[in-house]
Amino acid sequence: MAGFTDFERHIDPDTGEVHLAVRVRGSELLKNPLLNKGVAFPREEREAFGLTGLLPDHVATLDDQVMRVHDQFLRKGTEMERNIYLNGLMDRNETLFYRFVLTHLEETVPIIYTPTVAYACRHWSRIFRRARGIYVTPRDRGRIAAVLAARPTGERPVIVVTDNERILGIGDQGAGGMGIPIGKLALYTAGAGIDPARTLPISLDVGTNNPELLADPLYVGYREHRLRGEEYDELVAETVDAVRSVFPGSLLQWEDFSNRTSFHNLETYRDVIPSFNDDIQGTAAMVVAGLLAATRHAGTKMRDQRVVIVGAGSAGVGIRHQVAMAMVDDGATSAEAHDRILVLDSRGLVVEGRPDLTAAKRQLAVRTEVIHDWQIEDHPIGLNDVVRNARATVLVGVSGVPGVFSEKIVSRMARYTDRPIIMPLSNPTSHAEITPAAALRWTDGQAVVATGSPFAPVDYDGETRVIGQANNMFVFPGMGLGVLAVGAARVTDRMFLAAARALADTVTSDMLKTGQIYPSITSVRDASLEVARAVAAQAVAEGVAEPVDDLDNVVAAEMWSPEYVPYRPA
Ligand code: NAD
Repeated sequence: MAGFTDFERHIDPDTGEVHLAVRVRGSELLKNPLLNKGVAFPREEREAFGLTGLLPDHVATLDDQVMRVHDQFLRKGTEMERNIYLNGLMDRNETLFYRFVLTHLEETVPIIYTPTVAYACRHWSRIFRRARGIYVTPRDRGRIAAVLAARPTGERPVIVVTDNERILGIGDQGAGGMGIPIGKLALYTAGAGIDPARTLPISLDVGTNNPELLADPLYVGYREHRLRGEEYDELVAETVDAVRSVFPGSLLQWEDFSNRTSFHNLETYRDVIPSFNDDIQGTAAMVVAGLLAATRHAGTKMRDQRVVIVGAGSAGVGIRHQVAMAMVDDGATSAEAHDRILVLDSRGLVVEGRPDLTAAKRQLAVRTEVIHDWQIEDHPIGLNDVVRNARATVLVGVSGVPGVFSEKIVSRMARYTDRPIIMPLSNPTSHAEITPAAALRWTDGQAVVATGSPFAPVDYDGETRVIGQANNMFVFPGMGLGVLAVGAARVTDRMFLAAARALADTVTSDMLKTGQIYPSITSVRDASLEVARAVAAQAVAEGVAEPVDDLDNVVAAEMWSPEYVPYRPA
């Protein structure tokens, strides 16, 4: 594998058997998390690589190790301690880390990513142990390519980059934002089998405007106020150039940039390097997938929905765009789709002519003709007026404001449609626009509900209703796998639509009967494989990737699994 000097992967052309030709020995081998097997090193490898005496006698299996890890994991008193423990395990033995995560997905995903990762980011400088990934600061201007080359990384990696400005819902975390690219890449590997050797987290540490961090003597980041304007843009441009030259064929995912830079970076570079923004595009694909499954369940058409999106930030803008595309795909004209999707921000309906609209929001604005005969009670025009006048069938919450889907609003939807689709996506749980139990109660059990945070099933009228979670983990890992498998030169909007369709197709009619419009997290690898195949096929169909024979197998073969393979001295 290029970039690595420690090992090379070999596949026997006749038998298909895989082994690694390994160049390091002894304690160096034990220190490399990509190679370390710990007490599972078989005796012959202990002999061949000078490990005798460096390990206790018993040779364990990977499953034994997973049991030991689980025991240690459960002994940690808090979620934060579990997060620290798992990061330590990732730094010691990646195969064991991923086997453990995959064996206990429901337990571990909330620890390595949201919600616990938010605490890790906030307390990064306190819990800091060992650096992972690459930190680029303004000091590195002019030499970013050399900085990137310093961390050995496999060919054509998936790179997740953040500038730390809008970490989850907790704002500017400076260098602590690195917890997000690390966590997200762990989900790429857990969710879709991206080889961990081919993952690279990058923090664009351009400073922080968080006064607590600037004043903290233990803060590990670049202790300056944020770089802005031209200098910031130049640093981003140099980083993208460096990624292209050091890691040709890589996929770049923009993560947790603030709205002031996220749309600009995405639009500037999406045709320059295969890249996407998960907050904008991944979330939107999740919503479209949910709507496709829910409309199948309701026996209605995508093109006929009247969609109200509450929140006009990264998520809302992306959702508006992709839902319109999905409607057009289902036979609507683009003008019809535009009129059928209404977006609200903190100042009410985003409508043409509203004086405070930015250029981005003007693109979301509904035409004044659409609302000219509305009966309006509130000024500015609020959710109540929008749902009533538009006769909304779908309500999506990405506002971060708890409880805004009131009984009056939701019960009214049930008058316009037999199956109101209600998606309170704001995280964490306490920020959800409505609870699933209330959505069901206020619609006499008619609502199809999906949430951003996990919710327990709800017993309604003697039936158990399963609440699907719109977890982006069903889209971005499969997107990564599909792009890498065919070497796509770009990530197109239609590749996201293909991902959404493939994901919706994994939802069976039995699942729909219980109200569940997304798969459960335990089947994420199967879902990712379907998503990746659809993405790869779409890339080929659009000409952004070369055709390949036997595409399904090519994609499946790209998936890495956490298993120990034999080592031979190189
Ligand atoms: P953001 O900060 O970019 O946008 C929030 C938007 O909400 C802004 O446009 C703001 O004007 C608007 N808003 C605030 N108060 C409002 C109100 N009372 N009524 C209407 N709009 C209001 O944030 P974002 O990245 O777009 O994320 C929004 C929420 O969606 C977050 O809570 C996030 O956790 C959640 N989210 C969920 C998923 C998922 O479930 N898969 C994915 C991404 C984001």
